[in-house]
Amino acid sequence: MGTAGRAPVLILGSGWGGFSLARRLDKSKFETTLVSPANHFLFTPLLPSTTVGTLEFRCIQEPVRTIPHLRYVQAKATRIDLASRTAVVRDIFKGREHELRFDKLVLAVGCKTATFGTPGVDERERAGRHVFFLKHLYHARAIRNRLLELFERADAPGVEPELRRRLLTFVVVGGGPTSCEFTSELFDFLRQDVSRWYPDLVRDVRVTLVEAGPVLLGPFHKSLREYAMSIFERREVDVRLGVSVKAVRSRGGVPADGGVPADDDDSPVAVLSDGSEMEFGLMVWSAGLRAVRLTESLGLPRAPSGRVLVDAYCRVRGHEARNDVFAIGDCAVHDERQLAQIAQVASQQGAYVARVLNAGGEPRDAFRFFSLGAMVSLGDFAGAYDGTHVGDPHGKELRLPRVSGPLAWLMWRGGYAARQVSFANMMLIPMHWFKSFFFGRDISRF
Ligand SMILES: Cc1cc2nc3c(=O)[nH]c(=O)nc-3n(C[C@H](O)[C@H](O)[C@H](O)COP(=O)(O)OP(=O)(O)OC[C@H]3O[C@@H](n4cnc5c(N)ncnc54)[C@H](O)[C@@H]3O)c2cc1C
Repeated sequence: MGTAGRAPVLILGSGWGGFSLARRLDKSKFETTLVSPANHFLFTPLLPSTTVGTLEFRCIQEPVRTIPHLRYVQAKATRIDLASRTAVVRDIFKGREHELRFDKLVLAVGCKTATFGTPGVDERERAGRHVFFLKHLYHARAIRNRLLELFERADAPGVEPELRRRLLTFVVVGGGPTSCEFTSELFDFLRQDVSRWYPDLVRDVRVTLVEAGPVLLGPFHKSLREYAMSIFERREVDVRLGVSVKAVRSRGGVPADGGVPADDDDSPVAVLSDGSEMEFGLMVWSAGLRAVRLTESLGLPRAPSGRVLVDAYCRVRGHEARNDVFAIGDCAVHDERQLAQIAQVASQQGAYVARVLNAGGEPRDAFRFFSLGAMVSLGDFAGAYDGTHVGDPHGKELRLPRVSGPLAWLMWRGGYAARQVSFANMMLIPMHWFKSFFFGRDISRF
């Protein structure tokens, strides 16, 4: 038992699953500790909007410490001993390790971006040059700085036209909602801001979207996928379907040690599976997910995808009897009823586990996901909402309409502004939209 007879609950992760659970857990019953390297919850659907300054970074996050009576530790869990109910966490500042004891453990550590071992990608992403992921706020900030750097460099006196074109070639990898939203934000930025502040550069900008599968926006209905395709075609985005990035290399080739060459600065080349090559200034990679290191190291039963196997009550397989180890969100998967790795699932599972624990810890009803449908913003007043599979994907589904165009775009904006946790962000987000539209995005770089 913890202090004042409250059972210690340890939550790992401050994302959609962990934050939802931490907010709802009854702190008069549980001494609740949340451990995460991120001291904030990130509203991921709005992350692409921050890469070009449509929204500012701070208005799409909520500090974890705003949850009353929660103990927060800014650290990463590195080891867990389920027999002695102890977790070792390493603080992100000095790397010091601490032990935390728990009665109940909830894994909500999410996933990280998968690069499928594509040569040249991880090294460049780590080096913070040319290749960027889009998962955390620091990724979005790095993309925004790089974008602005490229426009400033391309506009400098004496830049050769050929170098200018290379700097202004943008490659987006992956055809899911995140990539499509980033591409759309980029288009809005080009149309509304670059055309005003860098008018001579607009004609040199090239945007290519590469998707290994046969379609964009795979989870959406065919009609909405075609709608998105037609929009990108109209905007002259070079969409390559059935094409993957085989490697990223320097124009001078790959050095013997396989690393990033020192003179790589202006010259990476994307080698594509259709045989073409493309020199670029910025690549945003959002093409897949893989397990984080902790999930891989725990020795828990896992699916081939690397996700921890859970039962219908979100309990980790092998720990069902004691109701003491749960896994939720992107890092977990039920062996029979697979659900998509999306915010709705993680957040509902967090709320479900809170309900179970608050009610004594013995689950009565299995977790049932209720899908609200899928939404994507395509920029320039266009969007898509797919209501085809609203409801329980393994039970009763309602057939709501599919919507595209300005109405879907309004639903996307209205829906996400209304879903903010704090009143402050509910106000700030529409204010930034208003400011970006009427006064332009902030193009300062620091
Ligand atoms: C750009 C973007 C846009 C998206 N848009 C949508 C959308 O529109 N709709 C939708 O439904 N879904 C969307 N998603 C997917 C959605 O964000 C994820 O499905 C959701 O975040 C999963 O929640 P989670 O709690 O499982 O993991 P996450 O939200 O990823 O949180 C994981 C947490 O665990 C922490 N962590 C990692 N390792 C450790 C460790 N060792 N110890 C402690 N903590 C750790 C991380 O710091 C993080 O706080 C989007 C994702 C991205 C990246």
